[in-house]
Amino acid sequence: VRLPSPSVCGYKRIQPLVFLAVVFASANASAAVTMRAEIDARDLAKSLLHAKISMPVSPGSVELWYPKWVPGVHGPVGPVRNIGEFKVTSADGKPIKWSRESHETSRFVCEVPAGVREIAIELDYICNQPTENTNGVDSYGTPTLGVINWNTCLVYPGGLPVRDITVDLTLILPDSWKYATALKTASHDANHVTFAPRDFESIVDSPLICGSHMTTIPLDKQTFKPAFLHVVGPDSAATEIKPELIQGYTRLFAEAGALFGGAPFETYHFLVVCSDDIPNIGLEHLESSLNAVDAKALADDDKIASWSGYLLPHEMAHAWCGKYRRPDHMTKPDYHTPLGLNMLWVYEGLDQHLGEVLCVRAGIWNLEDTRARHAFDISISRNTVGREWRSLEDTAVVAWELRARSRFWNTMRRAQDYYREGALLWLEIDAIIRTQSAGQKSLDDFCRNFFAVDPAKLPIAPFTLDELCASLNGVLEHDWKSFFTQRVSDVQAAYPLDFVESLGYHLEYTPKLPAYHKIEEKVGKYINALDSLGVSIGEDGYLRSTYTPGMPLANAGLSPRSKIAGVNGRTFSSDRMREAIRESVQKGGLELLVFDAEAYRTVQVPYRDGERYLSLVRDKDKPDLLESIYAPRTK
Ligand SMILES: [Zn+2]
Repeated sequence: VRLPSPSVCGYKRIQPLVFLAVVFASANASAAVTMRAEIDARDLAKSLLHAKISMPVSPGSVELWYPKWVPGVHGPVGPVRNIGEFKVTSADGKPIKWSRESHETSRFVCEVPAGVREIAIELDYICNQPTENTNGVDSYGTPTLGVINWNTCLVYPGGLPVRDITVDLTLILPDSWKYATALKTASHDANHVTFAPRDFESIVDSPLICGSHMTTIPLDKQTFKPAFLHVVGPDSAATEIKPELIQGYTRLFAEAGALFGGAPFETYHFLVVCSDDIPNIGLEHLESSLNAVDAKALADDDKIASWSGYLLPHEMAHAWCGKYRRPDHMTKPDYHTPLGLNMLWVYEGLDQHLGEVLCVRAGIWNLEDTRARHAFDISISRNTVGREWRSLEDTAVVAWELRARSRFWNTMRRAQDYYREGALLWLEIDAIIRTQSAGQKSLDDFCRNFFAVDPAKLPIAPFTLDELCASLNGVLEHDWKSFFTQRVSDVQAAYPLDFVESLGYHLEYTPKLPAYHKIEEKVGKYINALDSLGVSIGEDGYLRSTYTPGMPLANAGLSPRSKIAGVNGRTFSSDRMREAIRESVQKGGLELLVFDAEAYRTVQVPYRDGERYLSLVRDKDKPDLLESIYAPRTK
């Protein structure tokens, strides 16, 4: 949900400019520096943040960077277009001219006059203008709550690693609002908060949620590390959480402890927004995660069984997979050196799998739905014709280009397949390890070694593909390098599915809608006809973007713009559409009234296979590896 931008007319600066003394860590401008930032959030209800920043400089050209490659969104998408004001002055208030170049809009070059040793920056940020790419790293405000991502209202000097920049950060909140963040509070006086100084990287990695209705629930710390669930929403009804889900999150931590052994954090904070006025968000951090779900989603059984239940396990697992252990091309000293994203099939793919494993082991999701979900992932993979030209690795390399779905023919283009196909890949790896070691080893052994925390390497221990393969070989000797070449970097028209048998299952089409799909359809407001007609159809009759070439509706000449207005002589509804698919066995097809670009036409769709859903069916004479993989490790 995107709110209209409020008018800034009539906005008055609330406080006179006051800049405190700048601390010089060194006289040398290229050594570590300390900057000071005061973020005034009192205008969040008007979707505005005001920042005052001061930092030491040397005279001459000074580069200031607005964070561009912000970690977690995997792209050069820092929301620089939302800057509402950017003024640079000397400490005594004299204007300093700055300029930018079209090819690098995140870099401000200031001409600092002789004699000036510190500069002051006023930066206003216009909130609530996210895109698919920037949801997780944007800032938001409503009259009752806010999300502050510090990258939206800070700049840093070029020429030194952001980890060498210390930030003295203060925040002014609207009256009587509470807040939650992984940052440690040094002092808190009325609505003024001063945080303990941290390096720029840790600040950007520690977003804050705030609002008038905030609840903090400590999760049981006896089992593992201390963890807190902070929930903010427009009112107390929106933030209601099922008691079983709180127990699930507690078990989640216990299960993470059993899987990984140690943790790259001392304390963990789930920051959760429950609101219909903020887009759905999930963004990982080392000591916290930023999550936004619909109002009341955490009290809704269907939404818990769908994306909302899985979100927190996914983002928490990232503390190990992605934040602490990170592909080496994804670790850079600042936020303007481009990242290499080709190993997102580990960062996101393995995390997708581990998030599912932990979610089921914690009892938040069940095994039956998980089986159906795997079958659906396989079905999507089979329907993805784009795999004939594009490797899995290529979907990672241009991750941010694919985040926004193609409205038309998405299966030709491929989506961010490094998530779900990446998860399938790691499920196959677990099957290989378990089968070839005769049940002696599993992916859990790999996780325990690979993610073991070395305090000397915190916060990030980068890894290469060779190191990943070596770690897998430590668990099971196998030609992992060739395995990854075939599965990841080679173009592969179909994903090899032999491993399904070793899981103790085979694939079969069943006519009965699995419970998992029933829930997903209800939450997503569509019907799933992927395995029958090659499409999913919105409750409004419009085709959705899983539209598949070569399947019955595409063959019948429908376009992705099409809206199904009538089915077998009656007005379209989801129930009638499903009934028509079922009756195709007797009728040999469907008759659709199609609306497309101002015109109606009747279309005959030859089809006689009825309802079909790809399913994993148990082979009783083989051990059930899915049951073993998803079995809880703790009591
Ligand atoms: Zn993720």
